[in-house]
Amino acid sequence: MKRILVTGALGQIGSELTSELRYRYGNDYVIATDIRNDSEGTVGDGPFEVLDVMDGERMFEIAKQYEVDTIIHLAALLSATAENKPLLAWNLNMGGLVNALEVARELNTQFFTPSSIGAFGPTTPKDETPQVTIQRPTTMYGVNKVAGELLCDYYYQRFGVDTRGLRFPGLISYVTPPGGGTTDYAVDIYYKALANQSYRCYLREGTYMDMMYMPDAIEAIIQLMEADGDKLIHRNAYNVTAMSVAPEHFANAIREHIPQFNMTYDVDPVRQSIADSWPNAIDSSIAWEEWGFRAKYDLNSMTGDMFQKLRGKLIQK
Ligand code: NAD
Repeated sequence: MKRILVTGALGQIGSELTSELRYRYGNDYVIATDIRNDSEGTVGDGPFEVLDVMDGERMFEIAKQYEVDTIIHLAALLSATAENKPLLAWNLNMGGLVNALEVARELNTQFFTPSSIGAFGPTTPKDETPQVTIQRPTTMYGVNKVAGELLCDYYYQRFGVDTRGLRFPGLISYVTPPGGGTTDYAVDIYYKALANQSYRCYLREGTYMDMMYMPDAIEAIIQLMEADGDKLIHRNAYNVTAMSVAPEHFANAIREHIPQFNMTYDVDPVRQSIADSWPNAIDSSIAWEEWGFRAKYDLNSMTGDMFQKLRGKLIQK
């Protein structure tokens, strides 16, 4: 990775990834793009271009102009939003991905796009979900993610494009609000804990899902992209996780910092049924075996860091 184009750079992952890439590779070498303008200066100094990923020609022009050797494709509609707008999700998630893969093929760049635990479905083994297993998701988001994994494999096998991907769990961060996923509660709960000492959760108690703190997710992307390609067998996409947790575990971890914290439940049937169709705990051992990735943060260390950072943010305001 020397010159990197990021799509969807203003989103939850993109905003933190772009900053970290600029820190490591140099501001001018990371070209941030999004359909929205960066009016708040979210991704700091360095080139920024407005780009709708449905416009493949413009994506090609930008990539060529900046002579990029890596494309990190993040623009997508997330699980809960995709379930509300399935046709839009299909068009954007698949159309944007094909456009980005085509640019990677034409310009011979490295390529990364995230898959998700949403690529699994109700018939997938729920515990210690293997790297290679049944993938029959029942959500539009999941259908997009499975098709995307296969498409990335296809571009590698058929055209030799160096495609790489991760199946991310729910990601938790304090920088940018999440964009309409099923695991968004795990971010919101920290904001509400600080503001109101209470949270009304849209998922039932006992709903286990995998999660990861954003610094680990960013590290996973960079580590995978820097890994020796000869060692990668399961390129698209690696199971990665840091913790398998249910809403009550967040509440308990938060009470270590805010003892009066109170949690109530008001189940949203759409997001509950999506969560119920996903694994409880995935097996991420192949990521360790093939390119040496292991997450650093667990629930308690993440909670401590979240509160410290969020308090800092609130004081600054
Ligand atoms: P997000 O919703 O926070 O950000 C998406 C960004 O894409 C937004 O800034 C949006 O403005 C931009 N965008 C939307 N439509 C666009 C278009 N037509 N052209 C260009 N940009 C457009 O999403 P995120 O959480 O950063 O997720 C990025 C990727 O990671 C997605 O593929 C998502 O499925 C995947 N992922 C995310 C999580 C998570 O918990 N955040 C978990 C698993 C996988």
